[in-house]
Amino acid sequence: MPIYEFKCRKCGKTFDVLFRSRDEKVAVACPECKSTRTQRLMSAFAGKIGNTGAGGASCGSCAATSCGPT
Ligand SMILES: [Zn+2]
Repeated sequence: MPIYEFKCRKCGKTFDVLFRSRDEKVAVACPECKSTRTQRLMSAFAGKIGNTGAGGASCGSCAATSCGPT
């Protein structure tokens, strides 16, 4: 199951969404402000699974692709 990182365009929060299928196209609401004005970020999460907790979703100060152990 693909995990996508989204960013809220209203409040700027980034969060991860687990999709049940690759083709799922639903309006993803921000968990913070409930806005559906969210955008999917380009991220390679395949290698980041297991590195839960700090970093990842809570890291809003750097680009998603450069935030990680490598
Ligand atoms: Zn929001």
